[in-house]
Amino acid sequence: MSSRSKKDTVVIIKSINYSEADKIVTVIGKKYGKYTLIAKGVRKITSRNRASIQTLTISDISFFQKNGDVGSNLGLLKEANTHRHIITDYNQLKYVKPILFLLNKLLPEADSNEDIFTLIESLKFGSDEKANLKMTNLFILKALAQLGFIASIESCNLCDEKFDKENPAYIDKSNVLFICQHCYENNPIYSKSTKIAKLSGLGLESFSQILDNFIQKVYNNG
Ligand SMILES: [Zn+2]
Repeated sequence: MSSRSKKDTVVIIKSINYSEADKIVTVIGKKYGKYTLIAKGVRKITSRNRASIQTLTISDISFFQKNGDVGSNLGLLKEANTHRHIITDYNQLKYVKPILFLLNKLLPEADSNEDIFTLIESLKFGSDEKANLKMTNLFILKALAQLGFIASIESCNLCDEKFDKENPAYIDKSNVLFICQHCYENNPIYSKSTKIAKLSGLGLESFSQILDNFIQKVYNNG
C-alpha cells in the first residue's frame, strides 16, 4: 500500500456519472471535510464499492491524494465499505433534498468540521413523514447556526435570554432571527411587521418553507 493512501469516514452527498464506468463523488469526511473523488469502474455490476458510494451512504473509505492537500485536486477512491444508509426509502427523498442542497452549496470545501459530520451522522430517515420534516428543519437550523449563517437558536437573538419551553416566541421570517416574547412586546414595530410570526402558530411545512427561502437567499448572495 502506498504511503499516500488516506482513510476517512464519509457521507456521500453527491454522486454523478462520469465517462463510461466511473463516478465523481462528493463526500463530507469526518477528518478532511468536503472533497471530491473519482471512483473508477464503480458502475460495472461487479464493483464491490458500488453500493457504498450512493448518495447519503455513510462509508469508510480509503483514497489516494496526489500533489497537494485533500480537496485541492481530484483524489482517487480506492475502497469504500458501507457503514450505514441514512435513507432507505427513496419516497422520503424530498426531506433530504434541502439538506443536500445546503451541504453541497453552502459548506466550504476541504474545511474539516466534525460538528457538521456528527450532525449528519445523527440523521436517519424512516417512513414517518412528520418526524422526517421535523428532523430536516432541525438539521438545517443547527447547520446554519454552526456555519454562522444565523445566530444562536438557543437564545433570543436580541437580548441573549435563553429560550425555554415558552420560547423562542417569534421568528423574523426573512432572516431566521429568533426573538423572545419580551423583546417582541418592547418593540412595537414587530407587531405591525408581516415578517414576524409567532412560532407556535407556524406549522412544520411553513417553517420548512421559511428555511428553504433563507437557504436560497444565502446561496444567491454567496
Ligand atoms: Zn429577547
